[in-house]
Amino acid sequence: MRHVSKVFSNGTLALKDMSLDVRGGEFISLLGPSGCGKSTALRIIAGLGAPTSGSIDWPTSKINQKGLPEGDIGFVFQDPTLMPWSTVYENVRLPLKLKRVAKADSHDRIMDGLASVGLADFAKSYPRELSGGMRMRVSIARAMVTRPKLLLMDEPFAALDEITRQKLNDDVLRLWRQFGMTVIFVTHSVYESAYLSSRIVVMRARPGQVYSDLQIDQPPTREGDYRTSEGYRQTCQTVSEALQSAITAAEVRP
Ligand code: ADP
Repeated sequence: MRHVSKVFSNGTLALKDMSLDVRGGEFISLLGPSGCGKSTALRIIAGLGAPTSGSIDWPTSKINQKGLPEGDIGFVFQDPTLMPWSTVYENVRLPLKLKRVAKADSHDRIMDGLASVGLADFAKSYPRELSGGMRMRVSIARAMVTRPKLLLMDEPFAALDEITRQKLNDDVLRLWRQFGMTVIFVTHSVYESAYLSSRIVVMRARPGQVYSDLQIDQPPTREGDYRTSEGYRQTCQTVSEALQSAITAAEVRP
């Protein structure tokens, strides 16, 4: 992101001069209080909204008419946004269908995707038959079925209970290690960002900007007893202090 600003039509200045370099293979969390522009930044990266000024530069020459790298982005929303009239299988197939991939060529990728989130036995189920956590897993499998190089996730687990959220955190970390994609993950949870990320970008509000950029020097494998480790505790403390400081900055300089 190069000097990106966003002013909505009602005059809200959501982002001001936000610059961010994302390196391939990073797991970045955008962390900040509600309204600081995290979702706006993510949506601009995804091409779901245009910046008022500034630009998004991609490390590839294969750019489509919308200014996006062809087929390289997956997006997971806070709501699983599944089609209720379609089976789990057909929901995961949707991005391949939109890309006109033949049914026969799609099958293995869909089943692999479902297996990777533990839902291989639910291919014929309908979304209404699944729990909230399972629906979110379908949404992740759908985003991953095109094997995107960049996975954008907008507070995907905010509506889930703590235990389901922790399990899904582990699923996402496993997929990240397995496929090596770059992840940009929006959250307002210090603990979630500290658990998942290799880098945490703390944003401040009014105007939305990068406030601090923290490299997390912890092992990429976070399962097991990582949640009770001293390393995790220290990361949470550092991130918590940075977030508090970003909130104070917004209050002092409106
Ligand atoms: P966050 O994701 O950090 O909670 P958002 O990016 O959703 O923040 O919003 C940033 C600011 O922009 C907020 O003040 C929000 O009210 C405003 N905003 C977001 N979307 C729109 C929109 N479509 N029209 C007007 N204002 C918006």
